[in-house]
This record gives sequence, structure tokens and C-alpha cells, in this order.
Amino acid sequence: MSSLLAVVPVRAGVLPAGGAEATAEAGGRVLLVGDGTEVAADALDAVATEVTLVEVGPFAPGRWAMALAPHVAGERLLVLPASPDGRDLAPRLAAVLERPLFAAAMELHEDRVVTIRHGGRVLVEHQVGGAAVVTLQPNVRGVDLHSDGPPSPHHLDVELDAAIAEAALDEVLPPDVSTMDLSEAPRILGGGAGLGSAEQFDRLAWVAGELDASMGATRVITDRGWVGHARQIGTTGVVVDPDLYLAFGISGAVQHTAGLGAPDHIVSVNTDPHCPMMELADLAVVADADATLEALAELLGAREQARSDGTGVRGA
Ligand SMILES: Cc1cc2nc3c(=O)[nH]c(=O)nc-3n(C[C@H](O)[C@H](O)[C@H](O)COP(=O)(O)OP(=O)(O)OC[C@H]3O[C@@H](n4cnc5c(N)ncnc54)[C@H](O)[C@@H]3O)c2cc1C
Repeated sequence: MSSLLAVVPVRAGVLPAGGAEATAEAGGRVLLVGDGTEVAADALDAVATEVTLVEVGPFAPGRWAMALAPHVAGERLLVLPASPDGRDLAPRLAAVLERPLFAAAMELHEDRVVTIRHGGRVLVEHQVGGAAVVTLQPNVRGVDLHSDGPPSPHHLDVELDAAIAEAALDEVLPPDVSTMDLSEAPRILGGGAGLGSAEQFDRLAWVAGELDASMGATRVITDRGWVGHARQIGTTGVVVDPDLYLAFGISGAVQHTAGLGAPDHIVSVNTDPHCPMMELADLAVVADADATLEALAELLGAREQARSDGTGVRGA
């Protein structure tokens, strides 16, 4: 029985969050299953060493699990990203293969897995003696690149059993920025103790929505109960990797910034020009966070108003 294989579900040629990390964790051995697997494989050129493509059309986790099981049964550990589709496929694969599932792993070793539990507050270690299925938290590990050139993919044909019931798909909606998993959010507005009240976080959420961004917060804020734990960014919260991070009144403690990934742009609003978050920022705005947020909300409100009136707002 060989050791590790990444199983990565693909939609319309797009790799899910954590797809490259799952592949790296499996030493470059990956099976891409879904719709547009060849295109998705291009994104793994410098990570994958052995690629199997299973082109089976739109997401159908029950049918996929049944069809893949005989082909992956010889792999001891099957590693899936803990993306929404990975989390749907993994338990089905575990059930068909009659193996345990370790969900939301932070660390994966030959003989043990460390998972996060209780809303990210507790790390639990599990001994893994035999075969298992594991989902990996996205964005928590690096991806080792190699320069051997892209591997030639192997195509695997499988038959899907139409008799296996699947949820009927009416429509795929674009993600709602206010509720989407923070680990997949491309733009995040984060708030910290420099914002003075719980109401400011309602305003932050509104401004974020207007800017097509998601809202995050520091642990100080989630501990106060102003924002739910699912929105906490950091080592004991969600690990994110946005293109843009806008921080309001956040000091930039290492437990927070360690969960930030590598944003292309960081903007920080803080009264202390020397705090770590300001030093990390591309644009450091020395200002009161509440007042800046209120000014931004007003500007966006005026833009909204102008849109509904059919007039323009200068500078908005
Ligand atoms: C084991 C452990 C795990 C942790 N895990 C996490 C985690 O996952 N995520 C996390 O975020 N933290 C975590 N922490 C907490 C972390 O160490 C920091 O305490 C926390 O990130 C600080 O949050 P903050 O920046 O909101 O608050 P503070 O550190 O208090 O910073 C507030 C900032 O606001 C600025 N400010 C104040 N007033 C204003 C104003 N009017 N306008 C503008 N700026 C202003 C201040 O200059 C300061 O920079 C963890 C700590 C421990 C010990």
C-alpha cells in the first residue's frame, strides 16, 4: 500500500483553496477529479510530481466517491483540502472505503494527525495506525516548489453510477462576501481593539459588503463577543490569504499576522505609526480608526444614494 495521495475536486478548471497544499503534503502525488481537470493541473505544474486526471463533469460527491474508491483503495492516506467541495467528498470517500475521517487537520504525519476542534480553540492529536482520509485546513502550510517541469498527466476513466442519489443543483450563486469562508476571501477588512464599540463592527461589515470584501477581526474582538469566532484571523482562528487586507485599529501581534498569509496589498489605519501592522502595511494611515471608518461609510452611503438617484458623487 503506498502512502499518500491528494484527491482534489475541481470545478470549471479551478482548483479549490488548499488544493496546492494538499498536493504538496502528498509529496506531489495528486488525483484531480471533476470538470476541467487538465486546466486545473496547469496550476500545479511546480508542485505536482505525479498527476492523475479523472474528468467526470459537474460536482457529484456520492457518485465520485463510489467510482474512485477502487482506484484509490491502495493508498494509505487520502488527503483532501478542507474546501467546501473537499469537505463534501472526503466523508463519502471515507464511508465507501470504510476508513476513519480526520477532518480539519493542521498537521499530518506518517503516524498521527493534529486537528483543530471547538471553533479553533483546541488542537487534538490522533494516532493513525492504518488507512484514513484526512482533510487539511487551507493556508496553514507552505507549498514546496520544484523545477522539474510539469509531469505528464495520466487519464483515468471511471463510470459514474446514475442510480446514486445526489442533491439536485438548481443554480451556483457567487459567494456572499458577508458569509463566505474567510480562508477563501480575496478581500478582507479586519477590525481590532482600535475600533471602539460592537456597533462599529456592524458598520465594518456594511462597509466591507459595499467594497465586495469580507469582514474579519482580532481575537480581542471575538473574545469580547462582538464578532463570531469564525471571523477571527490568526493562529487560533482562520488562516487567510487575501489579495487585499485593510486593518482598522489592529496592532499586528504575531498571533494575528501569522494567520494573514501573504496579501498583495495591506492598508492599516492606526493612531500608532510604529506598531507592527503599520510597519507591514503598503499604505499606513495614521488616523483614528472609528472616524476613518465612519467617513468611509458616509462616502459609500452617498455613492449608494447617488446610484439610486441616478446622479454622481465626486471622488466616490
Ligand atoms: C495563544 C494565543 C493565541 C492567540 N491567537 C490569536 C489569533 O488567532 N488572532 C488574533 O488576532 N490574536 C490572537 N491572540 C491575541 C494577540 O496576541 C493579540 O492580543 C491580538 O491580536 C491583539 O488584537 P488587537 O490588535 O485588536 O488589539 P491591541 O493589541 O490592543 O491593539 C489595538 C491597536 O489599536 C490601535 N488603536 C487604539 N485606539 C485607536 C484609534 N482610536 N484609532 C486607530 N487605532 C487605534 C492601537 O494603537 C493598537 O495598535 C492570541 C494570543 C495568544 C496568547
